[in-house]
Amino acid sequence: MVALPILKTRPDEELAPPRSVRLSLTDRCDLACIYCRPDKRDGYRNERLDLDAWKTMMRGLVAAGVRRVRLTGGEPLLHPEVVDVVRFLGTLGLDDLALTTNATRLARLATPLRAAGLRRINVSLDTLDPERFRRMTRGGRLDVVQGGIEAARAAGYDEIKLNAVVVRGENDDEIEGLVRWSWERGIVPRLLEVMGVGEGAKLLDRVVPASEMRARLAHLVASGEPTREPDRGPAKYLVARHDPNKRVGFITGTTDTYCKGCDRLRVASDGVLRPCLATNDGLAAGSFARSGDAEGIARAVADAWTMKPDGDVWKGCTEEAAADVSMRGIGG
Ligand code: SAM
Repeated sequence: MVALPILKTRPDEELAPPRSVRLSLTDRCDLACIYCRPDKRDGYRNERLDLDAWKTMMRGLVAAGVRRVRLTGGEPLLHPEVVDVVRFLGTLGLDDLALTTNATRLARLATPLRAAGLRRINVSLDTLDPERFRRMTRGGRLDVVQGGIEAARAAGYDEIKLNAVVVRGENDDEIEGLVRWSWERGIVPRLLEVMGVGEGAKLLDRVVPASEMRARLAHLVASGEPTREPDRGPAKYLVARHDPNKRVGFITGTTDTYCKGCDRLRVASDGVLRPCLATNDGLAAGSFARSGDAEGIARAVADAWTMKPDGDVWKGCTEEAAADVSMRGIGG
C-alpha cells in the first residue's frame, strides 16, 4: 500500500465515510475530446483490474459505506465485461447505479445494461453539428452517438442526462439548441464549465461561466437561484419557465468550486483510490482487489478518505495540481 502525500485533511468530525463513488472501469477511450486529452495516442496504463478484481473492489466499497455508484472512465462501454459489472453491482443493494458514457457503443448496449440493472445514464454530447462534433472529439461520429441516445430512450431508463462542456468559440452558440433538443426528448441537459483538469487547463481562457450560460437561457428558464438536488452531485438546476417538469443543470467546476461537502471517492482503472478529482494523490488498493480481500479494500477506503482535501482551503479544479490529472484515468 502506498500512501501519497496528503493535503490538508478535514477535521475528524467531518469524516463520514464516502457514500458516492465513481469507478473508472477503463482508462481507454475511443474519442479524444479537446478539453480532455491531447490525442488518441497519449498512452494507457498497463495495470488494469479484471472482472474478479472489480467485484472485490465493489464489495469492499460497499463494506466501507458506499451507497451510490457511477461507472465512468475512460469510456466504460469499452470494457468487455461492463454488463457483468453492472449485473454484479445490481446484487449489492445500492441506492443508485448510474453510468457516464460517450454513447458510441450505446446502441448495442443500452438494452442489455438496462436488463442488468443500470438505472440512469449520462451521455456526454457537446454539439449537434456533425462536423463540429468530429472536431471536438477528434474523429467521433455524431450519428452514432445520437443512435445510442435513441436506444437508451427506447430501453426505458429512469433518467437520461446530457452533459455538454461549453467552450467559448467552439460550441457556445449551441447552449439553447442543446437544451431544447434535450427537453424535446425527455432528457435533462447539463452545461459544464471547462475545468482546468488535463487538457482543460489549456482552455481556461475559453471558459464560459455558468452565470453567462444562465443569462443566455433567461428567456427559457425560471428566474431565481439554481438549486442542488440532494445526493446528486454538484450540479445546480433551474426549471423551465413553461414546464416545471423540465430542468437544466449547471456545473461550475471553475467559477465556483464545490469541494466543501464533497462526499465523492474515485477508483482509477488500476485500483488506486482517489479522494479528489483535482490531484494525483491516491492510495493503491489494486493488490487487495486482485487477492480477493474486500476487507482490505474497506480499510484502504477509510485510509484514503483521510486524504480528502479540506474544502475550505482546497479549490478543486482551479488548483494548479489539476492540470496534471488525467480525467480519463481517474474517472471524470
Ligand atoms: N467517456 C465517458 C464520457 O465521455 O462521458 C466518461 C468519461 S469523461 C472523462 C466524463 C466527463 O468528463 C464527460 O462528460 C466529459 O465531457 C467531462 N470532461 C472531461 N474533461 C473535462 C474538462 N477539462 N472540463 C470539463 N469536463 C470535462
